[in-house]
Amino acid sequence: MARGQSTENVAELSTRRLDEIVGDQGQCRGMDTDAWYPLVSHPVGGVAAKTAEAEREYAQSQCAGCPVTRECLELALRIPAGVYGIWGATSERDRLVLRKRRADEGAVA
Ligand code: SF4
Repeated sequence: MARGQSTENVAELSTRRLDEIVGDQGQCRGMDTDAWYPLVSHPVGGVAAKTAEAEREYAQSQCAGCPVTRECLELALRIPAGVYGIWGATSERDRLVLRKRRADEGAVA
């Protein structure tokens, strides 16, 4: 499949299609993805917190160069597993804000 799916309107893609695209083209495919879940790997403070921050920065730098960042973020916003970890270069907190914004927009519409 050709790269560059991000030119599509990701909101119009099915969740299944998003999963296929991310699985086929994601930059983290085949990598050890522990760094994408820094709070699970290092849940306590001190040195562990610094390691978690380094992992988060590493994961987000990988996401920044990924050809399917937008698809990955959209997928994370739709599926339960998307609550945790780094998806589409966003943190768990970032996506909480995005989910709330979507819920607010849906309530207005
Ligand atoms: S955006 Fe990040 S988490 Fe998503 S597929 Fe690409 S590298 Fe993996």
